[in-house]
Amino acid sequence: MTHPIFVSVALDVPLLPPLTYKAADGTSPKVGDRCVVPLGKRQEVGLIVGLSDQTDIPAEKQKTYIRLLNETEPLGTTWLKLTKFSADYYQHSWGEVAIAGLPSFFRSKPRPRYLQSLERLRKPFAKKKVTEQQTELSLNDDQRQAVEAVKNSHGFAPFVLHGVTGSGKTEVYLRMMENVFQEKPQAQILFLVPEINLTPQLEARVRAHFPDKVIVSMHSGLANGERARAWLACHEKRAQILIGTRMAIFASLPNLALVVVDEEHDLSYKSGEGIRYSARDLAVKWAQLKSIAVVLGSATPSLETWSKVRSGHYRLLTLSKRAVPGACLPALTVVNPREQKTVKGFCTEVIDAISETLEKKQQVIIFLNRRGYAPVLTCPTCGWLSKCPHCSTYAVYHKYNGRLVCHHCGWSSPVYRCCPDCGNVDLIPMGAGTQRIEETLGQLWPQARVLRIDRDSTLRKNAAKEAFEAVHAGEVDILVGTQMVAKGHDFQRVSLVVVLNIDAQLVSANPRSEERAFANLMQVAGRAGRFGLPARMIVQSRFGDREIFAALAQQNYPRYADYLLGIRKAEWSVPYVSQALLMADATTIDKALGFLEHAKALAENIIEEEHFEGIVVYDPIPMALMKVADKERGQLLVESGSKLLLTKFLRQWYRSLCSVKTTVHWTMDVDPADV
Ligand SMILES: [Zn+2]
Ligand SMILES: [Zn+2]
Repeated sequence: MTHPIFVSVALDVPLLPPLTYKAADGTSPKVGDRCVVPLGKRQEVGLIVGLSDQTDIPAEKQKTYIRLLNETEPLGTTWLKLTKFSADYYQHSWGEVAIAGLPSFFRSKPRPRYLQSLERLRKPFAKKKVTEQQTELSLNDDQRQAVEAVKNSHGFAPFVLHGVTGSGKTEVYLRMMENVFQEKPQAQILFLVPEINLTPQLEARVRAHFPDKVIVSMHSGLANGERARAWLACHEKRAQILIGTRMAIFASLPNLALVVVDEEHDLSYKSGEGIRYSARDLAVKWAQLKSIAVVLGSATPSLETWSKVRSGHYRLLTLSKRAVPGACLPALTVVNPREQKTVKGFCTEVIDAISETLEKKQQVIIFLNRRGYAPVLTCPTCGWLSKCPHCSTYAVYHKYNGRLVCHHCGWSSPVYRCCPDCGNVDLIPMGAGTQRIEETLGQLWPQARVLRIDRDSTLRKNAAKEAFEAVHAGEVDILVGTQMVAKGHDFQRVSLVVVLNIDAQLVSANPRSEERAFANLMQVAGRAGRFGLPARMIVQSRFGDREIFAALAQQNYPRYADYLLGIRKAEWSVPYVSQALLMADATTIDKALGFLEHAKALAENIIEEEHFEGIVVYDPIPMALMKVADKERGQLLVESGSKLLLTKFLRQWYRSLCSVKTTVHWTMDVDPADV
């Protein structure tokens, strides 16, 4: 007679630890299998995370699972460890991470004809036609050393590949990958990118380099079926390369042998909703669990990453030269719009430079971090401003469709014919966004072909791709846009980059704002002078004497990063402390803050009773953008010099918060990107 088997099943329910079920007769479950279980009146798909031949549950209360889903291989040990770690670290239940990380096909109850659907998902991927000609580039010394360092590494080895834009990072990634495949042809590689829509060039290059490998991608633009198919190909080891955005971090890659995180400083690696994980940080964790190398690449690594280079935890690989012969860095000039004559927001020096560039039939990039036509519409008579009725911010004027749009909650309305307060019909736009600059450029250089690239101009599928192709084909003279223009495109004839409106980022209350401004500036600077044209960069700013511009002029990221780290250390701020943010929203700010006061009291109790000295709990405050979509929001910051201590404390605090009866909606963000 066989003994009954009990399985412990992780479910996608907050706070719920894995539940015990009895295996149905004749089934042989394995850890990592999925199964359908009864949960109250519902049936849910859960993940088996443990097996046992005994249980404390009395026989009459034992429940049996309804169906074992073992038509696919069980999920692997390392994947289970990674999801468990993520759950513990980001304060969620294991199932919330593990089940939610699966494509919907694998996390929902099997539909009729489940097995046939599964077979369809296994349909092999057709080899994509390689359009790009593969030219074997020879590596320079820096590149060769970087490739060798990774090749010769053993076990867990975190690397930071720091290279200015145009220094040939992609070629280095490809060679690193090649070495992995040379040693283990069946190896799998995870290649994380910030936004898949902006990287068709990268994907094309990877495909051209590895025509014999099965390459799949994973990002939010995929239909459910496509995502399930890519997921299964990785899980069943049929795919060797996965290129994906942050969601790809929870893919199952049993033969994972190398992780690459491109543009590791990019904010999109941090999830802003649900489980607020950092795919970059989890990539390092995964490499650690797998004992493999991970390469974090960037021209401007995040300060978190840079501090680990300086402390010796990560090894630095530097690409100091631009890889293309003749490519040069643009010469920087900072002009103060307060001290120069300006025409429609452009300093005369900028206007002259644009005219000269256009005469030489070269291209200009104009970068500003603000989309829309004007950030606010105002009434000159009474001072009325176009506030969003649902947020504590302004609705942005979009001229092309004549609407006011709130960029925070999405509220939009046709532009008012007259001032709602005083009836004046002459409302005027204040400040400039990309649309207004586009219009101004058309007035100043009517013969120039101007193209705007931002989130509004690229809503249509493939719009971004087509726009960038137009730039490459030389059909555009002036490209104006938000940071979308700065991301990873090889523009051939750009010899002038102009930056407008950077000052708001330099005087922000957010300590990370300046760091991001620097990353933006470095990235956009890298768009110019790639193909041997001498290039210029002109920034309009009132703060020309700041350290940021001295470092930018030399394209000297280490100088600037070390300078910022010095400040952060003196101020005892991130990355020298670890933080968690408790955020609450309610119909009124008083309710939200009331809940946070209570949360603070609970935290202080735990600290006192459990001796969590070294945890600092701040006072609840309204968020910088207090009201969004009619919700008023407050926050409570907790920090500690010890990550380990903070994680332990958060677990207890989170549990006690969950037992608070409240109508206030709250979430916790560990390692918040903004505080
Ligand atoms: Zn008015
Ligand atoms: Zn709004």
